[in-house]
Amino acid sequence: MAATVHIVGAGLAGLSAALKLSERGTRVVVHEATAFAGGRCRSYHDAAVGMTIDNGNHLLLSGNRAALDYLRSIGAEQHLVGPRTAEFPFIDLASGERWTLRLNDGLLPLWLFNSARRAPGTRAFDYVPLLKLLWARPGKAIGEVIRCDGPAYHRLVGPLLLAALNIDPPQGAVRLAAAVIRETLAAGGRACRPLIARAGLGATLIEPALARLAQRGAVVRMDHQLRGLRVAADRVEALDFGNEAVALAAGDAVILAVPPYAAASLVPGLAVPLEFRAIVNAHFRIEPPADQPPMLGVLNGTVEWIFAFPGRLSVTISAGDRLLDTARDVLAQTIWSDVASATGLPAALPPWQIVRERRATFAATPAQDARRPGAETTWRNLALAGDWTNTGLPATIEGAIRSGNRAAAIVAGHH
Ligand SMILES: Cc1cc2nc3c(=O)[nH]c(=O)nc-3n(C[C@H](O)[C@H](O)[C@H](O)COP(=O)(O)OP(=O)(O)OC[C@H]3O[C@@H](n4cnc5c(N)ncnc54)[C@H](O)[C@@H]3O)c2cc1C
Repeated sequence: MAATVHIVGAGLAGLSAALKLSERGTRVVVHEATAFAGGRCRSYHDAAVGMTIDNGNHLLLSGNRAALDYLRSIGAEQHLVGPRTAEFPFIDLASGERWTLRLNDGLLPLWLFNSARRAPGTRAFDYVPLLKLLWARPGKAIGEVIRCDGPAYHRLVGPLLLAALNIDPPQGAVRLAAAVIRETLAAGGRACRPLIARAGLGATLIEPALARLAQRGAVVRMDHQLRGLRVAADRVEALDFGNEAVALAAGDAVILAVPPYAAASLVPGLAVPLEFRAIVNAHFRIEPPADQPPMLGVLNGTVEWIFAFPGRLSVTISAGDRLLDTARDVLAQTIWSDVASATGLPAALPPWQIVRERRATFAATPAQDARRPGAETTWRNLALAGDWTNTGLPATIEGAIRSGNRAAAIVAGHH
């Protein structure tokens, strides 16, 4: 067992590793480059809308077992809210149709055989591509395995894969699509209940974690960017923070839980994913209509999902790279006109904010997926964590937390 474990990066991967190790009584020091914890999953006060918002809407599903364990371990599971069953309301802006996808709880997908539960204009048979993805050879792209066309693709399979992989689905890695389908749709409705951090990501996933770490005596150092690792043949000897070097004692270990580009600059010879996809979020300060569902899928618009919060509507657009150069006010207007059509709210633009995360996730292509390293390294006291390490899942909260748990197990010698 390591004497002190230095965890670099206070995103969900770093925090989950810190929680696991501190729970075992290991002395933990977390070093975070910025002034806030949470990384790509954070809340902050935004002056334009005059309220606390999340950098992006984050959806969890009830089958995300590591994420739910993490929330239980910090006493925050009650902050996640969602319907009692797996329900997903949709609107098609082209046709004006509205429907709700309703998965049944059990493993047998009875919902496929009930036209009131599946997407309109589709037959049970149209969902066979989901099985093809489960059974396909893993190195392929989705577009090589299924036809990315037809009503079931446009109304369910495509939106699901786009949201889960954050990539135009035909380019996406079959291995990652299969993992998502296996852990959600194929596990039955009980694993697919949508869960949202209604009070915000910070209040749900981050602040309770920091409080639990503080309670256990773990040290979290903000504005403490790791600049370099001093390595010997088989171990890391010291951490270089620029104006301060931390020498590692014999039993000490390091978990590097930073994004891939940061890890590549710190670890000699480390191959990492090099391509990314953006996510665009828009936030509007306005009271949602009384009957607005917490989450609404939108088809045939710029907008893909609308999330309703008290006093705010927020929109997510995945693989949003095409929107990175659009003028912010033009984008806000375009997005709001979709929201107004979907909700019946007036066309006048309310106070808004647009958050464009350029490197929201690594590009979930087969080629980039193949570049993901495992958690173990050639240095015996250095482990890697992060949603981009080889978790077998796309870049998600669930993947980030599993990677942190795995790295913690490795440095604790329990893998
Ligand atoms: C807009 C958006 C929407 C998303 N939606 C969803 C969703 O709906 N569902 C879902 O499951 N996932 C979603 N994700 C993905 C999810 O947010 C990430 O998978 C997860 O937060 C990644 O956590 P991480 O700890 O691996 O990395 P990060 O959050 O990137 O954490 C890395 C940390 O390391 C720090 N760091 C970097 N370099 C150094 C250094 N040299 N020294 C010290 N610290 C350093 C960074 O500042 C950061 O805090 C979304 C992501 C975005 C951006």
